[in-house]
Amino acid sequence: MISTIKIVFFGTSGSWPSVERGLPSLGIQVDRDVLLFDIGEGTQRQIMQTTVSFMKISKIFITHFHGDHFLGLAGLIQTMVLNGRTEPLEIYGPADTIKQVSNFLQLGYYSLSFNITIRELRDSDEIDFGDYIIKTTKTSHPVTNLAYCFKEKDRKRISQELMEKYSLNSKDVDRIVRNGSIEKGGRRITLDDISDGIRVGRKIVYTGDTSPCDCIVELARDAHVLIHDSTVDSSLEEKANEYGHSSARQAAMIAKNANVKYLFLTHISPRYRINDIRTLEDEARRIFKDSTVARDLMEFTVTI
Ligand SMILES: [Zn+2]
Ligand SMILES: [Zn+2]
Repeated sequence: MISTIKIVFFGTSGSWPSVERGLPSLGIQVDRDVLLFDIGEGTQRQIMQTTVSFMKISKIFITHFHGDHFLGLAGLIQTMVLNGRTEPLEIYGPADTIKQVSNFLQLGYYSLSFNITIRELRDSDEIDFGDYIIKTTKTSHPVTNLAYCFKEKDRKRISQELMEKYSLNSKDVDRIVRNGSIEKGGRRITLDDISDGIRVGRKIVYTGDTSPCDCIVELARDAHVLIHDSTVDSSLEEKANEYGHSSARQAAMIAKNANVKYLFLTHISPRYRINDIRTLEDEARRIFKDSTVARDLMEFTVTI
């Protein structure tokens, strides 16, 4: 079975929230499993306005410890406790995550009702989660910021024609994928018998905060979706770069050089009202056509 992979933008502002945008947070939903990337203050309420269930979040990846990217964590965890969560939760982030998160979770009076595992990641780490891999790269920002790459594993492509040849239904195919082969009509049918090539897994990259960095071109090479820091328009580019951020124009250059399919611009400075974003989008589209300024609660299904 091919998984449904959906990106949900919970918060698309940068530094502080605006009336129209919440602080950074992004969900990647793989079938029913939800991975959360960053969790700015107010994220839990943003999630509640979407079809995503906050109780289904299994892993949280924090890019860095500037307040706009993690201050929603304690609130979400306490809400999970109040809703009787028992499933474990995994939290990943850069160096210092264990100290930062452990201190933060001690705030207030409550008792954890589930296990939390905290793991610190480094530049160029790779974690295998079975159906997908998460890779990191350290970006260009005043404090250590890890960009994350979600990569679905490549799989053998199932041919409809070959399924018919062996009179297989989708349940048979599921069993073959799970077990390697099945016995049917007096013969053993393997995955190779019904596959006609490789289906390349979907790849999604989220930068967190960064000034333009070749490291993102590398990480996002041929990705389906790149979600890039685009704090300002090009007139404020120099200042933004000084603080470790990018302009929409620069994000588009990275998208073009990395040969991605779609670019979403996020971490939009609160100086821009919703009607001002045309400038950012136009500047990006002049360089990379499939550029979109993300809005809060926007959803995007990543097709193969
Ligand atoms: Zn930020
Ligand atoms: Zn930052």
